[in-house]
Amino acid sequence: MEKTAFVTGGSRGIGRAVVRRLAGAGYAVGINYLQSRTAAEDLAAEIRVQGGRALAVQADVADRAAVRAAIEQAVEALGPIALLVNNAGIAQNDLFQDMPEELWRRMFAVHADGAFHTIQAILPRMLHEKEGCIVNVSSIWGLRGAACETAYAASKAALIGLTRSLAAELAPSHIRVNCVAPGVIRTDMVEALGEETIASLAEQTPAGRLGTPEDVAKAVAFLAGPEADFITGQVLTVDGGFIL
Ligand code: NAP
Repeated sequence: MEKTAFVTGGSRGIGRAVVRRLAGAGYAVGINYLQSRTAAEDLAAEIRVQGGRALAVQADVADRAAVRAAIEQAVEALGPIALLVNNAGIAQNDLFQDMPEELWRRMFAVHADGAFHTIQAILPRMLHEKEGCIVNVSSIWGLRGAACETAYAASKAALIGLTRSLAAELAPSHIRVNCVAPGVIRTDMVEALGEETIASLAEQTPAGRLGTPEDVAKAVAFLAGPEADFITGQVLTVDGGFIL
């Protein structure tokens, strides 16, 4: 039977690759976006042309009411959500001592509160069904920490703590919660660093290249799939060996 997935930040980068991969695996997909309406709607149309089902839904994941409305819209059009991928994210690059309070709060609002909002919205149905899967997209910086990315790293670490705690709480209900921790993945977020930095990051990666959004999408699909049905509370690093 066709299952429904909901992917936050599905309009670009890693999220878009996850959406394509899940649609290819037979999921109907709710594609959440913040601003990139055309990109999200084009992606939904692309999936429909290929015979799949998809719907683009706008919501700032930091906004609890907007998230609930977007998820309701997706459920109405596509059916109850069996797989949630919390991927929406934003980058940061500032010295901690200069960081405005709003930036600190925004990082946590998008990465930590965002997952809180989506999970609370989909969980009652998963608990009722005693089935479901959640994959959170953290970062290697959430595992290791990174200078000038303190709010980013701390909020991504929060997502790891949420993953592990919730996995323990929900395992008896047959709901799995896992995390992927991407390394440096070539998306708009990384393009902003400039060619020189990108080349140096590729050089520092033992695998000799940066990751692609598809590298991460494959890991998400694995954690969501039946091969991973006894795996919960784990953080799967997808970084070509960057933090080894
Ligand atoms: P990206 O290309 O900048 O795409 C970010 C996506 O998140 C877009 O779809 C964007 O929507 C959406 N988004 C941002 N803020 C949102 C909000 N408040 N509400 C809803 N959607 C929101 O970034 P990416 O590189 O694909 O990153 C995806 C995830 O992977 C992020 O969580 C990021 O932290 C994580 N990650 C990335 C890397 C990397 O190297 N690229 C490494 C580790 C972890 P719009 O298109 O509408 O703006």
